[in-house]
Amino acid sequence: MEALVVGGGIVGLNVALALREAGWGVTLVDPQNRRGLAVAMVNPVRGRRGSVVPEAGEALPLAAAVYGRFLPLHRGVRRPVEPELRAKWRRKLEQSQVAHAWREGDVWLPEAFWVEARTLRARMAAGLPRVLGRAVAWGATQVQLAGGRVLRADRVVWAAGAEGASMTGVGGRYSAGSQLLVAEHFPVASAHGVYAASHAVGGSYLPHSERYTPHVTRYGEVAWMLAKARDLLGFSPTPTGVWAGVRWRTEGRYLYQRGGGWVIGGFGSTAYLLAPLYARRLVERLSG
Ligand SMILES: Cc1cc2nc3c(=O)[nH]c(=O)nc-3n(C[C@H](O)[C@H](O)[C@H](O)COP(=O)(O)OP(=O)(O)OC[C@H]3O[C@@H](n4cnc5c(N)ncnc54)[C@H](O)[C@@H]3O)c2cc1C
Repeated sequence: MEALVVGGGIVGLNVALALREAGWGVTLVDPQNRRGLAVAMVNPVRGRRGSVVPEAGEALPLAAAVYGRFLPLHRGVRRPVEPELRAKWRRKLEQSQVAHAWREGDVWLPEAFWVEARTLRARMAAGLPRVLGRAVAWGATQVQLAGGRVLRADRVVWAAGAEGASMTGVGGRYSAGSQLLVAEHFPVASAHGVYAASHAVGGSYLPHSERYTPHVTRYGEVAWMLAKARDLLGFSPTPTGVWAGVRWRTEGRYLYQRGGGWVIGGFGSTAYLLAPLYARRLVERLSG
């Protein structure tokens, strides 16, 4: 069986590799080799109130197993928690399957990790057949590219992220943000307002939007990230570059059947955590 996977980001790559492991022939379709997110956190505890991703117990070890085949994982995330929120965090973490320990006012998450995301994606993509092209229409067994070329396969999977979401009919919302590259290096990740890991500081203070618009980093975002980083780290890191992107978030469902083809996505900031799990679920459905 042959599959076309539209989108060569972390989600499309997870799908392509899971399909290949299940014995499928796979071709990725993407118009570009993008630089993309530089450093990815794989952290199941989210937000100021410490919400735990519902499937973290299954998703986190799987993500570690999949990515650990390609590069070293940098384990452990330090998460300061405000005193008035600690009781809530304790309850949520105790009810979850997420390993954690309290160190004074901080939560230490020993299984959460960060990865060099550009290296990871390049290594995952190595050896996967790829057609450089932009899909302008798609269906159960074919994809039409800009310029008119038509590709065919037994199955089509749409994994084209925020940029391609409008061609799925799935809905959802979009949140733009930036990752600052900095001169300093943080071997141990920490997060509060922003996250700092490796040579990056990431976060987002812009409002959600109902439509996808390509994002360009604004001056105010950089100032906000540096102020949050100063609160977290005790000093203001030195920016050396920036990556701007858009998250696509749907409401807790990440697999959709559309016109006989499949859509996977909408993971928001948990794409690196959840993509390996949902790629496997998708392959089970395609193979079943
Ligand atoms: C500031 C910021 C920080 C973030 N930090 C993290 C983090 O620490 N951890 C984490 O897990 N997530 C993080 N995210 C979210 C993460 O970047 C995305 O959720 C993730 O990249 C989504 O992966 P994807 O493969 O679905 O989409 P993408 O990475 O957007 O890849 C989609 C691919 O599809 C291609 N494509 C689009 N349209 C078409 C088309 N018509 N035809 C063919 N190909 C097409 C694009 O070229 C692209 O390569 C962050 C996002 C932002 C903005």
